[in-house]
Amino acid sequence: MSTRETRYSAGVTRLIERPSPNFDARKSAIDLVVLHYTGMQNAEVALSRLTDAAPVAGRYPGPWQDSAIDAAAPLGRVSAHYVVDEEGAVYRLVDEEQRAWHAGASSWEGRVDTNDRSIGIEIVNGGHDFGLPDFPDDQVNALIGLLHDVTARRELSPARIVGHSDVAPGRKLDPGEVFPWSTLADHGVALAPKCPIGRGGAALFGLGDQGEAVGTLQRELAAIGYCIDMTEAFDQLTHHCVRAFQARFRQAEVSGVVDEETRIIVADIAAQTRALRPS
Ligand SMILES: [Zn+2]
Repeated sequence: MSTRETRYSAGVTRLIERPSPNFDARKSAIDLVVLHYTGMQNAEVALSRLTDAAPVAGRYPGPWQDSAIDAAAPLGRVSAHYVVDEEGAVYRLVDEEQRAWHAGASSWEGRVDTNDRSIGIEIVNGGHDFGLPDFPDDQVNALIGLLHDVTARRELSPARIVGHSDVAPGRKLDPGEVFPWSTLADHGVALAPKCPIGRGGAALFGLGDQGEAVGTLQRELAAIGYCIDMTEAFDQLTHHCVRAFQARFRQAEVSGVVDEETRIIVADIAAQTRALRPS
């Protein structure tokens, strides 16, 4: 491995080492990057949590935490490879060669070993519990630089960058529907629809509907990578996957209900994903 300066000269201008003890041995090759928001008050609270080898509830209070939880209750140990703060500083917590603990119960492309195969990046942002604040330009620029660096070194296509909500639909909402996925796509580090968007359209189907069109939608979502059963029934899991898809590619309509525009964008992203998948 070359020096830190050489490795990061392409994209990261401010790399700060902040080692976390929360990792173990990686068993799979890296073929995915998972983006998160921290969902906490600020960078320091998030960094403390992500580097704490024995976290307890009382040390990390906040609106996301039920007041009924005992302040001395042990919390799960978590980490990520990188944290990007609002000013654009990038913290390295876990070496990429090791497995960080960021994705939890999750599934993508039929595999449930998300931490094993991915690089986890936490973006400092309060998220849904703090009213969905915007992501500052300095932060987004730093993230794009980091993603350029990672994807170049790991030879990853834009289709390999996903959100936590994509791999854990129904359980996780981050990085959320104000996250600037289209800006990332403009810089070649995420997918975005190539079809014309903004036409809207009538609602086509949602929870409880069934039939061939639902089956087609499920096949397309599965081709992108979503964990979904081919039931031809618009079940709870399908609803969660549609909602996660919309939070990324149809941010004006994050409802879990499929309208004409959502249907067209699903087909567009599925086609792009298939084209980029190594044969
Ligand atoms: Zn997350």
